[in-house]
Amino acid sequence: MADYVLAIDQGTTSSRAIIFNHSGQIVESGQLEHEQIFPKAGWVEHDALEIWKNVREVVALALTRANLTHRDIAAVGITNQRETAVVWDKNTGEPVYNAIVWQDTRTQKIVEELGGDEGAEKYKAKVGLPLATYFSGPKVKWILDNVEGARAKAEAGDLLFGNTDTWVLWNMTGGKDGGVHITDVTNASRTMLMDLSTLDWDAEIAADMGIPTSMLPEIRSSSEVYGKGREGGMVPGVPISGILGDQQAATFGQACFEVGMAKNTYGTGNFMLINTGTEQIPSENGLLTTVCYKIGDQPAVYALEGSIAVTGSLVQWLRDNLGIISSAPEVEDLAKSVDDNGGAYFVPAFSGLFAPYWRADARGALVGLTRYVNKGHIARAVLEATAFQTREVLDAMNADSGVDLTELKVDGGMIANETLMQFQADILGVPVVRPQVAETTALGAAYAAGIAVGFWSGEQDVIDNWAEDKRWEPSMDSGDRERLYRNWKKAVTKTFDWVD
Ligand code: ADP
Repeated sequence: MADYVLAIDQGTTSSRAIIFNHSGQIVESGQLEHEQIFPKAGWVEHDALEIWKNVREVVALALTRANLTHRDIAAVGITNQRETAVVWDKNTGEPVYNAIVWQDTRTQKIVEELGGDEGAEKYKAKVGLPLATYFSGPKVKWILDNVEGARAKAEAGDLLFGNTDTWVLWNMTGGKDGGVHITDVTNASRTMLMDLSTLDWDAEIAADMGIPTSMLPEIRSSSEVYGKGREGGMVPGVPISGILGDQQAATFGQACFEVGMAKNTYGTGNFMLINTGTEQIPSENGLLTTVCYKIGDQPAVYALEGSIAVTGSLVQWLRDNLGIISSAPEVEDLAKSVDDNGGAYFVPAFSGLFAPYWRADARGALVGLTRYVNKGHIARAVLEATAFQTREVLDAMNADSGVDLTELKVDGGMIANETLMQFQADILGVPVVRPQVAETTALGAAYAAGIAVGFWSGEQDVIDNWAEDKRWEPSMDSGDRERLYRNWKKAVTKTFDWVD
């Protein structure tokens, strides 16, 4: 019996392959970044072929480093950046256009036109999402409308659409020579094309967007055997048996299996999900209703989600666009060189504002500046922006669910930043808890895959393996907390109406 499960984490900035043992611990990993392509203001693309090449390389790297072969792998799970849209020719395997990334705002006009008189709420009752540039459907429409010959090919049945889970799975299982064209319910729930109740594509919305349903992958559960690694590939014959969008995977890896359990992931953006059980809760406070996971034939479990577009990527911006730090962790040293934000607030509305505002017309603002403010204060304002945005989402969750969260499980690249974690606990007024295995996204996908083949028995194994690493308790005076938060809210209002 093979002793390990392999997870492929196809993320926004990099692709990772991580090998886990039966205790849910990391044995080895490989990671490669891919190019972020910014052809115009507001446009963000990836080269899907580069992503597929990187996935193959990181899997080989992880196996080599662990001194293992595919025979040691019981199952493969895939987790991925959600919403990012790839459209490719099924006869050649070539994408017809670069992948359009979730942060890309080029579909703003399309989204407004689709909404018409009914506006952003048009499809919300069916799909749980407001019409926004964030989701895949409008991105696919843009490709069909703008890439020469694409619509004719799509109508002839020659093009396939997928998020990067589907792209990687199709390639791993044979590509143009018999690759399976499948996605899971969590990824499908981010396209704007899936009915949350039937868990099937909605023909009417697809027709509104001019997307032939023949392009759409088959929707399956998050934990079942979809296919096997192709002969001659990196994991020949190994079942590929778990798919979860990255945020749902992290929720799974954090063992949030009970109603009311929540996690927050601090990566390129931030994403907080709260498990709402088999009930779909429509949001009245700017959150998304989404599928959390579905294990085989069991009923789907839903979640409310607060998505924030820019958190860790603001730290990258400080590094790459301003050059005042040379690596992401340096932001903490710089922030610690001062005692507070010096009155400065940075609202990173680079892709408009997502939850809870959903304002495509917003653009970033750095406000409250005086001659006193230095780069240390700006570094603090950058970190605090993540914490304030998280507070807004937590408030919305408490309002929608009617229950106040008593602690928050966290994960993602930014949680290495202790200054941020303490400030986060202070601004939320509830403890923030970091697990021992911080790679919860990959871990969640591994669990989903392992459960499908009997490597793990079910959710209880995930719960048993979860262990706390560190906890930050709130220590800020509540008067200070509310004053800072009020200032933040004021700063947010300065970002509205920047796009004609
Ligand atoms: P993703 O999965 O979205 O690609 P990760 O979870 O790998 O992202 O997190 C990477 C993000 O975390 C980057 O945007 C980076 O700027 C940020 N980051 C990494 N280390 C730190 C740190 N010590 N302090 C603040 N931000 C950090």
